[in-house]
Amino acid sequence: MDKVISENLMEIRERIESSAKKSGRTPDDITLIGVSKTIEAERVRSLVELGVHDLGENRVQELLQKQPLLADLNPRWHLIGHLQTNKVKYIIDKVVMIHSLDSLRLAEEINARAVKANLTANVLIEINIADEPSKFGVPPQNAMEFAGEISKLSNVKLRGLMCVAPFTEKSEENRIYFSKMRNLFIDIREQNYNNSDMDNLSMGMTGDYEVAIEEGATMVRIGTGIFGARDYSQ
Ligand SMILES: *Cc1c(COP(=O)(O)O)cnc(C)c1O
Repeated sequence: MDKVISENLMEIRERIESSAKKSGRTPDDITLIGVSKTIEAERVRSLVELGVHDLGENRVQELLQKQPLLADLNPRWHLIGHLQTNKVKYIIDKVVMIHSLDSLRLAEEINARAVKANLTANVLIEINIADEPSKFGVPPQNAMEFAGEISKLSNVKLRGLMCVAPFTEKSEENRIYFSKMRNLFIDIREQNYNNSDMDNLSMGMTGDYEVAIEEGATMVRIGTGIFGARDYSQ
């Protein structure tokens, strides 16, 4: 058992619990997604064995490489990074949720592949909540209309919203963005679109997950806080 991962995880779970309480919820209301990008399979295995069954990868190729190595544990894989249309076919039946839906073209390809595979694809709309030019995601002001378009696709189920908030040393600075996400989430949910079940708000990473939970996150995506700093050279 990996002692560092185990200790980090214990601390994160405590923090999730106290943030959940602050927003009138319990830890059971929050799904911790362990972000395993760049982390070798054996260390990811330790995390799953400690009870984290939801894993997030941001690259298709890495996900496909790692998945067979952990197949015996049957974790739930989430695609959290930008997804190119031509890669949808490789992951359509391999992930439980795509967090990064950011264009109609991508939604249509996901739908076509889902129809072929005879399944329903669970998706979150990625929102570029701070209008950062460097980030992917639908502009907040277009999100409602986009959700309406997706609802016409038979095999795509809209399950909520996702964002990557700006990088900051001061997590409080992101509170306004998480709060905007929650308002947008509620507005779209109230529309009761076809093929939608708006029950997930995926926001908060190592630097800001506590604030995100206080503002209503139901899923947090944490990598560095669990595994330590990533080494991109490998
Ligand atoms: C890498 C990544 C994370 C995790 O980031 P940490 O700061 O290491 O917790 C979360 N979400 C997405 C989309 C990522 O690419």
